[in-house]
Amino acid sequence: MSLITSSIKGTLDLLPKDSYKTQYIESSVREIAENYGFYEMRTPVFEHTELFERGVGDTTDVVQKEMYTFSDKGGRSITLRPEGTAGAVRAFLENGLFNEPMPQKIYYLTSCYRYEKPQAGRLREFHQFGVECFGAGAPSQDAEIIALANEVFNYLGVSNLSLEINSIGCKKCRAEYHKALKEYFKSHIDELCDTCRGRLEKNPMRILDCKSPICSEIAKGAPVITDYLCDDCREHFDSVKKYLDAMNIAYTVNPRIVRGLDYYTRTVFEFVSNEIGAQGTVCGGGRYDGLIEEVGGNPLPACGFGMGIERLLLLMEAQKTPFPERKKCDIFIVSMGDEANIKAAELATDLRNEGLSAQFDTVGRGFKAQMKYANKIGALYTVVLGENELSSGNVKLKNMADGTEEETTLKDFTDNFQSIVIRQAMAGFDTEGIDIKDILGGNA
Ligand code: ATP
Ligand code: MG
Repeated sequence: MSLITSSIKGTLDLLPKDSYKTQYIESSVREIAENYGFYEMRTPVFEHTELFERGVGDTTDVVQKEMYTFSDKGGRSITLRPEGTAGAVRAFLENGLFNEPMPQKIYYLTSCYRYEKPQAGRLREFHQFGVECFGAGAPSQDAEIIALANEVFNYLGVSNLSLEINSIGCKKCRAEYHKALKEYFKSHIDELCDTCRGRLEKNPMRILDCKSPICSEIAKGAPVITDYLCDDCREHFDSVKKYLDAMNIAYTVNPRIVRGLDYYTRTVFEFVSNEIGAQGTVCGGGRYDGLIEEVGGNPLPACGFGMGIERLLLLMEAQKTPFPERKKCDIFIVSMGDEANIKAAELATDLRNEGLSAQFDTVGRGFKAQMKYANKIGALYTVVLGENELSSGNVKLKNMADGTEEETTLKDFTDNFQSIVIRQAMAGFDTEGIDIKDILGGNA
């Protein structure tokens, strides 16, 4: 196949026949985020490369292996965002949002770019729903973002995800832990992959996150961070767990989660599924109290998560989670002859102004072919406009599901059709067995 007609490896097209599913996920997460007081932030798709080296961490897989970095025509090093947090922090600082009341809670729905080996659930362009909360250091904030992610899954009807949490401590407790890790990995230095051998001195925790089978086997025997937490970090972690218990959110503590990005402190968490293959982490996040300072601001606590939209969709499809149907064509206006064609456009305009979905022929098909097309696109109703209808002013509305017809006038067409649509909708709404008292809360 020619290059021109083939997409870049690891990218997906979202086609009109499927886009309603992603839109449903997007509108759901927007609503939930706003219920939690998070509002949308949009940042550019590219940033200065230094931001990600700093903000993601230069010993991470993302920075070491996965970034789409290039020079622009002005000779600047530019990188397509591999994740959403660094850009959000940059925008937070650049726009002086630290002067606003704290906490500042933002969300984004954004594309991300990572040069990874494409496979199911692992793409080179993918999409994330993410939240970031700046300026709240209490354990209740960690619990709140976990609750938000959890609610997204509940709302969408996704089940069987396990929530795994851990604390990776702060700089203070990590110093001791790094020592213990280095000692452990040094005894396996000949077996480690080249990247991990390089990480041993600078950031041994990264080795725990290495995807190479040998490194991850070795990592299984490594000391765990939870044995090295300082009192403050342990207390923080215990408190996060208490909040989760109070919010009725089930979790397991997995002392081996460290997360793939360098900036995490204390709480880290993942929502993992075993139903979508090897790439089972649908959402990952945690606290990163050092990041804002790292990127150049005054120290400020922060936390957040990223949820992979494609993995979420894979999971929903695997679980056959129902999606609300895509908007249907309410009516297709079949027309023949110049005058009728123009009338069809006029009627469609009126109907659309009333919020109905109306279509008419723009191909120049004959009567039968237009009917066939209306049927194919699943139009709920059709109406025929020809010379007779125009001169009599009367038309027949055909219900495509059962073939029944109803007479109506051209003059009041939009009003009449609207009442039919409403009547139809009411008929589908089963009011039997509903007691008015239930609706009015027993006050009737
Ligand atoms: P993984 O361990 O799968 O590589 P990660 O730790 O690199 O994930 P994060 O940086 O935490 O992932 O990104 C948050 C979420 O974004 C992931 O949990 C996942 O759902 C999604 N995600 C990450 N990388 C990809 C990718 N290449 N393709 C599709 N989704 C991805
Ligand atoms: Mg990764």
